[in-house]
Amino acid sequence: MFELRNISAGYSGTQVLRGVNLKIPASSVVALLGPNGAGKTTLLRVATGLLKPTSGQLLIDGEDVTGAAPHKLVEKGVCHVPEGRGVFRSLSVRDNLLLQAVKGDQSEALNRAVTAFPRLGERMAQTAGTMSGGEQQMLALARAYIQKPRFILLDEVSMGLAPKVVDEIFAFLEMLAREGASLLLVEQYVTRALAAADFVFLLNRGSVAFAGQPAEIDAEELAERYVGAG
Ligand code: ATP
Repeated sequence: MFELRNISAGYSGTQVLRGVNLKIPASSVVALLGPNGAGKTTLLRVATGLLKPTSGQLLIDGEDVTGAAPHKLVEKGVCHVPEGRGVFRSLSVRDNLLLQAVKGDQSEALNRAVTAFPRLGERMAQTAGTMSGGEQQMLALARAYIQKPRFILLDEVSMGLAPKVVDEIFAFLEMLAREGASLLLVEQYVTRALAAADFVFLLNRGSVAFAGQPAEIDAEELAERYVGAG
């Protein structure tokens, strides 16, 4: 269980998050939705240790890890897939994957990546920056998967991708949850996020405006009122 308890945070005097409570249980997908500027990225920064909250706690399996450095949280199984993908564009697919591999486990790492996205197997020698946006996103997710993360925080994974690719990526994310991971999905693509999510949090002006199950939400109304994208 990954938990943010009563978190407030901001930037040099500007408060962005105001007393946010959010839980990500094991084996679940939690969608974090909200309009531009609501504080979604700021919340991810707190959750990955990049930004220290001004008050509140970050808990992993009940242990207080508030203020821990990002690499400490990585050691505890936290993995961040940032918006813009974070792959090394000038390196080959293989080298991007091997950078994530622990020494000695290189073939296991490559096998794991290809199990996640078979298409990567055909493109091992290709320079990552020359792949399509969807393939780069798959590579970013495969790099995360190699680390066997327990808590996966994803910023706008479906941004700018074709619906078919989005389907493939969401199927993979749901598989990760079935394998036991906890996923936090920051999404503009409301319909897909609600279809995949077990729980939904709606952030508005730095506060949780709704927390509950997707069935309790009218996706169309939500898209119109808060997000502006279906
Ligand atoms: P979007 O969907 O547009 O990415 P968001 O919900 O992720 O929005 P944040 O990026 O968390 O929102 O931004 C919340 C508020 O914090 C915004 O008003 C933004 O201008 C401000 N903000 C974000 N980063 C910084 C920063 N480094 N310094 C100062 N203010 C910032």
